[in-house]
Amino acid sequence: MLAESVAADRDYPPMARSARDGFAVRASDVPGELQVIGEVRAGEKFSGEVGVGDAVEIMTGAPIPPGADAVVMVEHVTVNGSSVNVPRTLRSGENVSPQGSEARGGETLLDPGRRLGFADVALLATIGRSRVSVFRKPQVAILATGDEIVDVDETPASHQIRNSNSQSIAVQVARAGGCPRILPVARDNYASTRELVEVGLRYDLLLLSGGVSAGKYDIVERVLADLGAEFFFDRVLIQPGQPLVFGKARDKFFFGLPGNPASTMVTFEIFARAAVEILGGEKEPMLPLLWSKLTGEFRHKTGLMRFLPARVSADGAEVSPIRWHGSGDVPSQARANAFLVVEADRESWAAGDSIRVLMK
Ligand code: AMP
Ligand code: MG
Repeated sequence: MLAESVAADRDYPPMARSARDGFAVRASDVPGELQVIGEVRAGEKFSGEVGVGDAVEIMTGAPIPPGADAVVMVEHVTVNGSSVNVPRTLRSGENVSPQGSEARGGETLLDPGRRLGFADVALLATIGRSRVSVFRKPQVAILATGDEIVDVDETPASHQIRNSNSQSIAVQVARAGGCPRILPVARDNYASTRELVEVGLRYDLLLLSGGVSAGKYDIVERVLADLGAEFFFDRVLIQPGQPLVFGKARDKFFFGLPGNPASTMVTFEIFARAAVEILGGEKEPMLPLLWSKLTGEFRHKTGLMRFLPARVSADGAEVSPIRWHGSGDVPSQARANAFLVVEADRESWAAGDSIRVLMK
C-alpha cells in the first residue's frame, strides 16, 4: 500500500517517438515519392534533419527525426532503391506519440493509499523508483471462542469440531493486506475470554469468532463491555451473519464475527475486510461485485439480504446457487467460487434474470 505521492521524473515519452515501423516524413509532402536519407532505430537518435521531400526509415519506439511530423507505416509504402513511394495522405502527428503525451515531468502519477498492482510496479520501474514508502501492514489478532473447538491437528470427539474459523479468517486477513496473528482459542468462560480479549486488543484490530449470539455462554459482548467498549452495532440484517458486533475498546477496533463458518466468512468479506484494508492505508476499499445471469429460477424468503454459496462461470456471465445446508456447511462454501447476493425484498427470479454476485 503506497504511502507517498509519486511523480514523473521526466516527460513520457521523453521525446516524440514513432508508434510504428515505417518512414518518418513531413505530412505536407505526401502523397508523393520521397528520398530516403537514412534510418533510425529504437535506442538511437537521427543526427540529420528531414527536409522537404525527405524520408527517414524509422522503427517503433525510435525518436522522430527533426523536421518530420508523421510516420507512414511500412505496410503502406513501396520502396524503390533509395526512394519511397507514399500513395496516401497523412495527418500531422499520425503514428507519432508526442513528447509528454503520457505524462509530464513532475506530474503526480500515484497517490498514497493505493495497493500497488502490476501496472503500478511497472510505472514505478519506468520512472526509476526502485524504493518507495509503503504502509506498515496492520497486525490482526484472530480469536476463536468455544468450548467445543479443538485444534486442527487434534482428533475431535463427536461433540467437538476443529477450529476452521481461525484458518479462514487468517487467509482473508492476509488477502486484505494484514498480518494474521492467531491467538489460542478462548473457552466459554469469563476469565479465559477476558484474558485473551485483552491480549487481542494489543494488536491493530481484533477479530473474534463465536460467542456473540444470544446463548447463555455467549459472553464476548459482556467481556468487551467490561473493558469499556463502545459498540457501533451488534446486528446486521443479512444471512448468514446476523449477530455481528463492531466496536472499539482500549482505542482498538474489534469485530465479533458470528461463529458459524459461513457467517464468519461472509461477515468478514462484507465488513471486516474493509477495516483491515483501511488500517493498512487503503483509501478506497472495494467489494468485488458484478452482475451475472441466473442459470435457473430462484426464490427466497424475503426479509434478510442473503449471501449464498454459488458458482460463477469462468467469464462471469452465468451464476448458479449451490445447494447448501445452512451456515455450518463448510464443504458447500468450498465448492463455491462466489456469493450470490440476494436482495432482501424480492421473492423470485426467473432463469436469465440479472443478479448481483460477490466474488470470493
Ligand atoms: P457461536 O456463535 O459461538 O454460537 O457458534 C456457532 C457455531 O459455529 C458453533 O456451534 C460451532 O458449530 C461453530 N463454530 C464456532 N466457532 C468455530 C470455529 N472456530 N471453527 C469452526 N466452527 C465454529
Ligand atoms: Mg460458541
